[in-house]
Amino acid sequence: MSIGCIGKSKVPKIKNKKGIKMSIIKSEQLYEGKAKKVFATNDPELVIVDYKDDATAFNGEKKGTIHDKGIVNNKMSNHIMKLLEKDGIPTHFVEEISDRETVVKKVTIVPLEVIVRNIIAGSLSKRVGQPEGVKLNSAIIEYCYKDDELGDPMVNEYHIAALNWATKQEVATIAEYSLKVNEFLLKLLKEVGVDLVDFKLEFGRTSNGTIILADEISPDTCRFWDSTTGEKLDKDRFRRNLGGEEEAYQEMFKRLGI
Ligand code: ADP
Ligand code: UDP
Repeated sequence: MSIGCIGKSKVPKIKNKKGIKMSIIKSEQLYEGKAKKVFATNDPELVIVDYKDDATAFNGEKKGTIHDKGIVNNKMSNHIMKLLEKDGIPTHFVEEISDRETVVKKVTIVPLEVIVRNIIAGSLSKRVGQPEGVKLNSAIIEYCYKDDELGDPMVNEYHIAALNWATKQEVATIAEYSLKVNEFLLKLLKEVGVDLVDFKLEFGRTSNGTIILADEISPDTCRFWDSTTGEKLDKDRFRRNLGGEEEAYQEMFKRLGI
């Protein structure tokens, strides 16, 4: 792929199916979510995600902004997805074109939030009546049906197959990739003095039906605790009114050497 430059955004030239290089042009907005906007491009297989500084919690009840969060999340997610690709996990990442914008493969999102946990925290702590910080014997995978109006309820493999959200084979692939991502991130983060408590992933299907990792991996979607002090370096600082959220996001950015 070669990169041309227009203004602040790099315009990637990507080979299409016929092997012809074409410039990727941002067109209409397809969707605006709580943390990102999604734009169509002149290539039907590609979209551009644009990361905002908006922060929400408790299903949109708490709203605010975290200065430059969009930049940290865009660059951190891209950094991690590039490493995951090298490690054999297919992702939607194509090309970062500005501090906040990235070209990604367009997918049909599997309507699940896949949560992987190593240490008890958040909703699991409440559900099982055990304090935050207890290390689990083995990683847990949970699935939540991605529906804001319903509050993303937890579901299991039977719901997912019976309601046609994904086939059994797709769920097996999603679980395999999710555990691989966990192993990869645990190691990466340990090296920079961070414990990976839990995180959320989203997967999607490309036009040919392949399951790939989509959405983002960032302090918005993970719990990161400093290995020595236990300090929270993630969105819990915002959720729990702890203050210092901007500094926490920047600290993660710095530690990963991005
Ligand atoms: P939400 O929809 O929960 O408010 P965001 O603000 O992060 O979340 O919006 C981004 C949306 O884009 C999400 O709904 C996410 O599922 C979707 N998405 C992420 N990656 C892709 C992709 N590669 N192709 C299409 N949609 C994607
Ligand atoms: N998570 C997320 N989006 C959601 C729900 C959860 O990114 O809509 C992440 C969250 O940041 C944490 C993990 O998934 O890293 C587990 O969250 P939990 O179920 O404990 O929910 P919470 O306590 O955040 O309500």
